[in-house]
Amino acid sequence: MASPSQDLPAAFGFLASARPSGGRVPPAVFATRGTHTGVELSLREQTLGATLVHAPGLPPDSAQARDTDTAVLIAGEIYNRDDLYSVLGPKTGQPGGDAQLLLDLLRRYGPHAFRLVNGRFAAVVSTGRRVLLATDHAGSVPLYVCAGPGEVTASTEAKTLAGHGGPRGFPFADARRVRGLPGVYQVPAGTVMDIGLDSGTAETHRTWAPPLARRIMDEDDAVAAVRTALDRAVGARIAPGGTPLVVLSGGIDSSGVAALAHRAAGSIDSLSMGTDVSDEFVQARAVADHLGTRHREITVPTADLLRQLPYTVWAAESEDPHIIEYLLPLVALYRALDGPARRVLTGYGADIPLAGMHREDRLPNLDTAVAYDMATYDGLNEMSPVLSTLSGHWSTHPYWDRDVLDLLVSLEAGLKRRYGRDKWVLRAAMAGLLPEQTVTRPKLGVHEGSGTTSSFSLLLLEEGVPERSVDMAKQQVVRELFDRTVVAGQDPGEVSTAEVVRSVADRLERGVA
Ligand code: AMP
Ligand code: MG
Repeated sequence: MASPSQDLPAAFGFLASARPSGGRVPPAVFATRGTHTGVELSLREQTLGATLVHAPGLPPDSAQARDTDTAVLIAGEIYNRDDLYSVLGPKTGQPGGDAQLLLDLLRRYGPHAFRLVNGRFAAVVSTGRRVLLATDHAGSVPLYVCAGPGEVTASTEAKTLAGHGGPRGFPFADARRVRGLPGVYQVPAGTVMDIGLDSGTAETHRTWAPPLARRIMDEDDAVAAVRTALDRAVGARIAPGGTPLVVLSGGIDSSGVAALAHRAAGSIDSLSMGTDVSDEFVQARAVADHLGTRHREITVPTADLLRQLPYTVWAAESEDPHIIEYLLPLVALYRALDGPARRVLTGYGADIPLAGMHREDRLPNLDTAVAYDMATYDGLNEMSPVLSTLSGHWSTHPYWDRDVLDLLVSLEAGLKRRYGRDKWVLRAAMAGLLPEQTVTRPKLGVHEGSGTTSSFSLLLLEEGVPERSVDMAKQQVVRELFDRTVVAGQDPGEVSTAEVVRSVADRLERGVA
């Protein structure tokens, strides 16, 4: 077992405030579980104060770095460190942590440094009289800001900014507003916002965009490229000497991750979750047995599952009912995962660049699905680490590694759907590593495998919501949960899903909604 310092990022999240002179960061309630450590970095022209949230017993030293004029804070981690060290030369490259690495890159490249980084992170940089706010290519660690002349406040959780914004904050044309939190904006995915501390106004620079063009590759080359890219992504997500935990549905996506992780780490733990309504234990067990993982199954009763809804909205800070429904079983799984903090690898997100969920036979439609999803993922927060850090675990998703994603999105559609198979190129890349039945098994979504979609619908139907209004009702339930847990700061443990469902059903019946 690796020491925690190797196995987890130095910080899970932060609330940070930059001002021309010092000042305290007020206490805040995060969904992220962890120890809070206060930092105050006084620079020549501004002071950056912050609360870092991190794993207990693991000082967040390498989440911060500074020189006289510049300070860097990072939540999360970088996956292409070796490449980055290679351009910085032999003088650096001493492992000073990811914040130090960013500081060194900023000295060399300025804000363009973020164009080089492949990671899962949100960062704040105070430099001169400017504040840079940066997200990774996927915006996988959400980052929120409110700013006005003389103060820029940023946080990895919108709820901690309630009351910070208001009329003083300038509107940011290029960023999404957070409903219910005036003056609070979400930093877009793959973006650096460069904010003048005196003016409080921002210039927005994209550091990544999804590929629009498609590449034609020979079958064998495409399969080899996918295998290589995924292997690197999985390897970069395993700490030396660490034993990762793979959450395993038994589908091709998570099974592929499990197989590569098992090879890279020597051994892995795997975990499958099911409900009293449905599970995929047999399929997951087949993979676990084939690989020889230390495997565990958890059954969560459906009633408990629905009680996780407030936690899911609180963690994801998303108002999209489909996404929330999708994330619900994962939150239940992470919350059921007791014991020490784990590094968790998932198969999340493979379906997006490969159009796995769309089960599309026709190539024009397949590419429409890919193009649509790649144009609309930003702000959904479906990969937020808070989904797992709310119970102390760090999760990471190799299919949304920047290099893997660049490759998968750009493959021509005929490599994704081929010989009557969905996700063909991925299945072919994993063929030698997994049981035949796993490689050929068609896609089942997590919300289907665990029966989530039907149980949420059932709950609404039982409260008298007519079939045709179920989708609308779900939207309203999620919205109300967002208002309570994120906007009003209510403890999700004190929010009753059943009660919210009843009030929504009631309003629908009276035609008030
Ligand atoms: P999906 O896109 O439905 O495959 O779900 C995303 C990821 O969540 C999977 O690749 C797995 O890593 C994980 N996952 C989904 N369902 C389960 C489950 N029942 N038990 C454990 N992990 C799961
Ligand atoms: Mg799956």
